[in-house]
Amino acid sequence: MPKIPLMDYVGRPLLACIFLALLLLQWRFPLRRQHFNVLHRLVRNFVLSLPGFAIVRLAMLPIPIAVAIWAHQKHVGLLNWLALPLWAAVIATFLLLDYAYWWWHYAMHMVPLFWRFHNVHHTDLDLDVTTAARFHFGEMILSIGFLSLAVVVFGIGPIMLVVFFITFEAETLFHHSNWRLPIRIERILNLIIVTPRMHGIHHSIVQRETNSNFGTIFCWWDKLQRTLRRDVPQDAVTVGVAAYREEHELTLGKLFAMPFRGQRPWRLPNGEIPEREVQPANKLVE
Ligand SMILES: [Zn+2]
Repeated sequence: MPKIPLMDYVGRPLLACIFLALLLLQWRFPLRRQHFNVLHRLVRNFVLSLPGFAIVRLAMLPIPIAVAIWAHQKHVGLLNWLALPLWAAVIATFLLLDYAYWWWHYAMHMVPLFWRFHNVHHTDLDLDVTTAARFHFGEMILSIGFLSLAVVVFGIGPIMLVVFFITFEAETLFHHSNWRLPIRIERILNLIIVTPRMHGIHHSIVQRETNSNFGTIFCWWDKLQRTLRRDVPQDAVTVGVAAYREEHELTLGKLFAMPFRGQRPWRLPNGEIPEREVQPANKLVE
């Protein structure tokens, strides 16, 4: 396996520390009441993510890095043409890739084939930092093509790509966590980045709420696309996907097989469609 020193010696230890810190913080200062056994979910999400971890390290990073090196050598892609100063290239990389990921996440929800895989992530019955690892390996494989394409179109450099990827993963851990930040701090952070309350609404069993807040690092894309929701109190959010509410239907084997099985419509097991009265949007509530 070729070494990626920035990822192997900086990124992974850093992400492991952030994961452990968030695990501790969400246990000490919980945001939403958890309904299911934390240890079960931790083990299940971790085992489910193992093929994904391997794919990230063996393909999802090396392939786009190879593409980035090729694009740099061949002088292909937006940032290779513009030759910006370093600070501007860093800002441009973060904005371009994060906005591209907004579209990718949006496509995951809107394209039925993609949703089959992304559904697995959303079926977690509680939401916390371990959910950030719960991705079906099929979604990882699909995203290799997306990331490689983004890298070549935007002309992202290999080091910049790894720096972005580490930040992207750190923010993914953060906004999935069940850490109750003081509301004032959350409001300040939420002027720029996606916060746990904002992403909590994205994991609601109400479909209109799940189809909102697609951002990963910056919250601005959801403002721009009019998909921002900050008006649902966390106590009112039931986490999960309406049609998959039973723990025994969400075992490891069934989760791995889920994308390849028949897909259920967005209804609760009793046939009801979960809804909520429309509230004035964009007011951050607790
Ligand atoms: Zn999603």
